[in-house]
Amino acid sequence: MHKFDRDDEFLAEELLGYAMARMRRDPPPLDHSETLEVLNERAGISITPEGVGSNAAFFTFATVLAKACISVDHPRFFAFVPGAPSDASVLFDLVVSASNIYGGSWLEGSGVVYAENEALRWIADIAGFPAEAGGVFVSGGTAGNLSALIAARHRWRERANGKHDQTRGLMIAAYSAHSSVVQAARVMDCDVVRVPYEKYGILTADGLRETLSGLSEFDCDRVFAVVSSGGSTNAGLVDELGQIADVCTEHGVWHHVDGAYGCAALASHKKRSFFSGIERADSFIVDPHKWLFGPFDCCALIYRDPAVAKRAHTQHASYLDVLHDEGDAEWNPSDYAHHLSRRARGLPVWFSLATYGTNAYSDAVDVTLEVTLAGADRIRDAEHLELILEPELSILLFRRKGWDEKQYDAWCDQMLKRGKAFITPTKWEGDTVLRLCIVNPRTTIEDIEMIIQELA
Ligand SMILES: *Cc1c(COP(=O)(O)O)cnc(C)c1O
Repeated sequence: MHKFDRDDEFLAEELLGYAMARMRRDPPPLDHSETLEVLNERAGISITPEGVGSNAAFFTFATVLAKACISVDHPRFFAFVPGAPSDASVLFDLVVSASNIYGGSWLEGSGVVYAENEALRWIADIAGFPAEAGGVFVSGGTAGNLSALIAARHRWRERANGKHDQTRGLMIAAYSAHSSVVQAARVMDCDVVRVPYEKYGILTADGLRETLSGLSEFDCDRVFAVVSSGGSTNAGLVDELGQIADVCTEHGVWHHVDGAYGCAALASHKKRSFFSGIERADSFIVDPHKWLFGPFDCCALIYRDPAVAKRAHTQHASYLDVLHDEGDAEWNPSDYAHHLSRRARGLPVWFSLATYGTNAYSDAVDVTLEVTLAGADRIRDAEHLELILEPELSILLFRRKGWDEKQYDAWCDQMLKRGKAFITPTKWEGDTVLRLCIVNPRTTIEDIEMIIQELA
């Protein structure tokens, strides 16, 4: 198992060959999931006391298991938020695995921590965060939001000098906030107040003010964070970040911007103004595995003042004390989120940014924004469709006139079965509608025209 021999040489060639062949496919096969019954029958059992051997296991993977996974990087994967990792990032992910680097501490991984921090710095720069800002790459937006909110609560309690050590915290978020925000509140055992629905469900400064003034004095004291959205998942709408920042400053409340999907557009030449005010937030996240061309799983979490995050998250134990003797250079990624051991998952992002340059990132985001705008034009012009919103970012929401929920479901199912596209319906103001999320620079206007035709 641990002696790299001739068999391993063959295996390496086979696996690297497979990886390369998968990368060359343009487009990759869309594929679709299978039932448990089918997988039981076709894949069966691979793990046995003696082992089935790499040939048999790999055959099962290549012929059954891989085909039962939808290719998120297919140009017509429009559901949820897809991903489109750059070639350099995918290849470097192989190197990260082969090197088995521990990315949790400066002591063990100073080199990769340095590189990850360079990538985080670029992300902080496009948001306009100050030089002292910093953070860590975590597994995803869910982990990023939770970790940021834990730091926010920590600061609230610190500032209260013991008065709130036993008080249940409260956070404020819009109805359009991502499900992971509510989940974070559940995990942290605190409350969420949702700001009443207005203007497409985005969080507005007026709505926030009204909500705050409707709270009792005691509840107002319990507010430790306002979570706004740097691009809602359902509609791609950005909250009023600047004015929300003002309200947060007035109330001395932590402002966290959830930009898991949308904050990638900070890299765009065209969209920066949508986010104005984000530079005054206390923390924000963006997922490179969504719209910043990195492989799963990767979320950049950035704090304005990393010191408070460090106080909130650092684990203390006799066997860990040595991690905190590294002097000025010391930067332990484990100190900035709810985790300890970690993969250096920001390294593929660093390598890709270094390879192509940041301009290539801006251009690639702009390509997806242009396709989205062209798609909106085509949908507006189509007799059988109704565009619901002018897209702010890269999400198209529209109706197929005259269809009910069942018809949407049936159409989406057959599009996937026929290998055409992966689209899932969503809800807009109570109605079932269609949603396309475009983050893949390989997606073309012809792909969207094909969808429009299929809907006729
Ligand atoms: C996707 C998303 C999340 C969750 O991110 P994961 O990486 O899936 O955990 C959180 N917030 C928003 C706005 C998202 O779009």
